[in-house]
Parts: sequence; C-alpha cells; structure tokens
Amino acid sequence: ARKFFVGGNFKMNGTKESIKAIIKNLNEAQLDPNVEVVIAPSHLYLPIAVDAVTASTVSVSAQNVYAKPNGAHTGEVSVSQLKDLGLNWTITGHSERRAGGESDENVADKTKAAIDGGLSVIWCCGESLEEREAGNTVAVVEKQLAALAAKLSGNDWKKIVIAYEPIWAIGTGKVATTEQAQEVHAAIRKWLKAKVSDAVADKTRILYGGSVTAKNSKDLAKQPDIDGFLVGGASLKPEFVDIINSNQ
Ligand code: 13P
Repeated sequence: ARKFFVGGNFKMNGTKESIKAIIKNLNEAQLDPNVEVVIAPSHLYLPIAVDAVTASTVSVSAQNVYAKPNGAHTGEVSVSQLKDLGLNWTITGHSERRAGGESDENVADKTKAAIDGGLSVIWCCGESLEEREAGNTVAVVEKQLAALAAKLSGNDWKKIVIAYEPIWAIGTGKVATTEQAQEVHAAIRKWLKAKVSDAVADKTRILYGGSVTAKNSKDLAKQPDIDGFLVGGASLKPEFVDIINSNQ
C-alpha cells in the first residue's frame, strides 16, 4: 500500500510569526501517524521551519531549487544549500513557476539535480482550462511526464511524489470532481506502467492539488489512485489538520 501523503505549499505567504504559529498548531495536533506530511514555506523561512517542527511525521520542503550545483546564479538556491539546512524535500515544476518560464525540460533538470543531491521531490504537473476544454488533459500531462522520465533512472522514481494540479482548480475554489481527478490519476499510473515499470506505477504516490479543503478532501481521498494532496491556501489554516487526517 502507498503511504498517504499531504503537502502544504505555503507559496509566497506568511511571516516568521505566522509560520511558527502554523507549525505549533501541527506539533500540538493529533495527526494521523500513518500520513507523511511535508510543509513548504518560502526559502527565507526554511531554517525557522526546520527548527520549529517537532512532530515526527512532519518534514520541511523547499518550493523550488536550481539545477546547477553552485556559482554565478544570483537569487537562486542550490540543492546542497537545502541539504545544508537539513531539508530532504523540494517541490519542482509548480504551474506558478512553469507560467514564469520553466519548461518541461528545465523542470526535469532540476528534479534530477535534486534527486542526485539527495532530496526527494514533489514534482507537479497539470493542464490549463484551455487544454482541458480542448480535450488535451492527458496528452499535456503525458508530455510533462515524458520530459521527466527522459532524465530519470529507475531508482530515481523512489524519490518522486507526483502532484497532479489542474491549473484551473488552483486558488479558484473550483476543485476537480472526484471523477475528474481519479481519471487523470489513473491515466498517470497507466503511463508509468507502460513507460517506466509495474513497480514504479504501483509504488509512486500521486497527489491531487487545487482548491483542496477539509470539506472535499474526504471524498477525494477515497479514490483508488489518489494518494494524498498538495494543499495551497488551506494549508495556512487550522483545517490543514483535518485534511491531513482525511484518510481515516
Ligand atoms: P490551492 O489549494 O490554494 O488551490 O493551491 C493548490 C496548489 O497550487 C498547491 O501547490
């Protein structure tokens, strides 16, 4: 069985105090011990977050990382710098970064660099509304997956969690229906089986992201190919605990 996984992507939100308060709330909550939780504050707050987390099932992630090991890359953060802070996770390929110019290949390169440097990765994919309405959802996600698979070796997949986040559902309050989400998750798993291996298809966690709340998470969690969530807005609120515990 795949271990349920809930990520909190804080995006460009929070202050020292508010992030400490969110983490205090997680530390004191009754979190389902069978759920792996990963929270991703802005880079600036990563050391504070690493220090503040005491809950044994909660880890800290970056929201992004650079593919090159070091050097003249103003404003970027390297894999080894994240490791130096004690982190074991990063997100890559969030649609908000792809929209800012990261190509499928850039995302694949930084994902590979992260894995080679010892990080696990929440790799994001997903289609726009226009692509969905044109009937291209699965084709778009398969193209994103193919660019990733081209850079990874078999063992690398052990370090990958896939987050399917339809762009039209992010921050809009318009959650995908359980059927819409399950359909794409099943297509991703089928692709992994055909193009990578049975084991990778069977073991890789596929998260849903896009307007997840405590109200809709229970039904989504029941779908056979939904192995957890990547939560934006609601991860900043106390209801994040209920989302973490939604698989009970
Ligand atoms: P929301 O949960 O705010 O829709 O954001 C989802 C997301 O983009 C998580 O990475």
